[in-house]
Amino acid sequence: MAAYDWLQKALTTVHKANWYRSVKLMDGPGPTGVLNGQEVLNFASNDYLGLAGDPRLAEAAIAAIHTYGTGSTGSRLLSGHRLIHEQLERAIATWKQTDAAIVYSSGYLANIGTITALVNQRDLILADTYNHASLKNGARLSGATLHEFGHANVAELQTLLDTHRAHHRRCLLVTDSVFSMDGDLCPLPDLIALAEQYDCMLLIDEAHGTGVLGTTGAGCVEHFGCREAELIQMGTLSKALGSLGGYVAGSANLIDYLRNRSTGWIYTTGLSPADTAAALAAVEIIQEGSELRSQLWQRVTQLKQALTPQLAAKDKPLKMQLLPSESPILCVQMPTPASVLQASQQLLDQGIFAPAIRPPTVPTSRIRISVMATHQPEQIDQLTDALACLNS
Ligand SMILES: *Cc1c(COP(=O)(O)O)cnc(C)c1O
Repeated sequence: MAAYDWLQKALTTVHKANWYRSVKLMDGPGPTGVLNGQEVLNFASNDYLGLAGDPRLAEAAIAAIHTYGTGSTGSRLLSGHRLIHEQLERAIATWKQTDAAIVYSSGYLANIGTITALVNQRDLILADTYNHASLKNGARLSGATLHEFGHANVAELQTLLDTHRAHHRRCLLVTDSVFSMDGDLCPLPDLIALAEQYDCMLLIDEAHGTGVLGTTGAGCVEHFGCREAELIQMGTLSKALGSLGGYVAGSANLIDYLRNRSTGWIYTTGLSPADTAAALAAVEIIQEGSELRSQLWQRVTQLKQALTPQLAAKDKPLKMQLLPSESPILCVQMPTPASVLQASQQLLDQGIFAPAIRPPTVPTSRIRISVMATHQPEQIDQLTDALACLNS
């Protein structure tokens, strides 16, 4: 049918731009695994605490299937609300020290569902230009006037507020907490101060902060000591929590409003019992002790300490540069997409899976490394040795 011919042309264009992507087969969640048939060390996982392969989560998920079945059978407001949803939402709220929490089917949906419920054509969104695609798409779908400020640029945000805030009803500031393709943190205390000064709501996406940052692993908000501020704390159950789903934590009014007005929550089936139970088990494990988290930070420190002197010499052929990071995401920047693709392939030849991230996803090309608590110190050594080889 001619009506579909454009698909082939569009794909050809994608190929020509070197933007074509395809899936790779990986056999499991661990720090090692088989990628497209090859044994590799996995530095591409968001499972920071190694909980996706933890038998305690698996047992909780299986028990929930036996109790509640495999599906939630309906939307939460219709017939799909289970005790386990309530337990998970209460556990998240307790952990985050908020009045309440609500779980969505994914983090992506939580962002779209929340932003579109909170603001519309009469309102203003000011957002960090490095924000995750789900935040950007939520902002576009909401119909609110959207302006982006330069990455973590508080002065530019203030200028935008001075120019635009008065012309709109509500204003929503939106930021990642840990920036997923860089590993640095948002300037949260400054953002909170501006939100208060200009009467704005502030949504912080803790997808890569939850379970990782803060004394109890509650995230970037805890890390900065900002738990008293009234915020919209969004996050995912699918990264450090090793399951699937998203959440929003905040005031009782916020969560009650979302239950009544967020179509991304109302018109979709409740989170599956297995995913819900696995996430609940993860929250409980994280709250019981900080061992996994301190192990994670030990590995991050080990890698940073090895890489910093190694990459300091600027005269090396690849001009590798470690981007500033305060998280388990460490990025090694290189001058061109071609050099980063080649480096990623050379790492793979040495059995190390660390993906090349290129424009248009990010402005500059880089190897993105994510560290897990379950990496052994020798595996971190293997990675640094392999990077040293590239850079010599
Ligand atoms: C992964 C991610 C999401 C989406 O979460 P999912 O649960 O995977 O849909 C949202 N925001 C950020 C910053 C993320 O990294």
